[in-house]
Amino acid sequence: MPDPAERLILLLVGAVGAGKGTQAELLSARLDIPHLASGDLFRRNLREGTPLGEQARGYMENGDLVPDDLTIAMFMDRLAEPDAARGAILDGFPRTVRQAEALDRTLADHGERIRRVIYIDVPTEQLIQRVAGRFVCPTCATTYHAAGDPPLRPGICDKEGTPLTQRNDDRPEVVRARLDKQVPPMLAVLRHYEEAGIADRIDGTQPIELVTEAILRSANATPERA
Ligand code: ADP
Ligand code: AMP
Repeated sequence: MPDPAERLILLLVGAVGAGKGTQAELLSARLDIPHLASGDLFRRNLREGTPLGEQARGYMENGDLVPDDLTIAMFMDRLAEPDAARGAILDGFPRTVRQAEALDRTLADHGERIRRVIYIDVPTEQLIQRVAGRFVCPTCATTYHAAGDPPLRPGICDKEGTPLTQRNDDRPEVVRARLDKQVPPMLAVLRHYEEAGIADRIDGTQPIELVTEAILRSANATPERA
């Protein structure tokens, strides 16, 4: 059994469109710990025109990974913020073995480690269909799907009432580039954690709520809320 005082760090691994963001939002509400998404952090920097955003822009528009040094520094700063003191759901970081090793080292320095790594497995053709129908709230980053998980009012976020948008990098040609370039390092990260004996694979083609339950079981985590 996990020590109840231990910081609950869960890592969701999966290709673009696998459902990491969707699950991280649901788990964040159930477990009462924040959802930390490296892609959201980069997009916020882009929107705010920060130097980090400007450095990341070209990589993101081409479907490339942003260099490790920039990404590691940004994410470690976020993980050290007070709202993550009880735990966090990591979405999109680490995405390379170098990032994973940097994270493992930082956690080990504090006597911590990742509780569980969950790989959300979805076949490529389904990933492309999902991303084509993906709409995101620009205010709160909640994700919807035009067919599978629509908002109550078409095109409007249920929580914020804001018009939903499509991401710039969700165009089919960029999605294919992201899959080609980002899946091999992602599988290397998965192997890294499988070798450490802390990773599980979950069938991500199941309905959203069954995926959530499978993740909670894998993490041996007790929800704060039903
Ligand atoms: P990721 O964060 O891994 O890129 P998202 O969580 O944004 O993926 O999900 C991609 C799209 O697929 C979204 O439009 C989302 O609503 C939809 N989706 C997520 N999980 C499922 C599921 N289990 N079944 C069907 N559609 C899903
Ligand atoms: P995401 O929203 O997770 O799909 O990320 C959007 C884009 O941000 C990716 O296509 C990458 O260009 C960049 N990105 C996000 N997370 C990382 C990461 N951990 N390492 C490098 N680049 C990243």
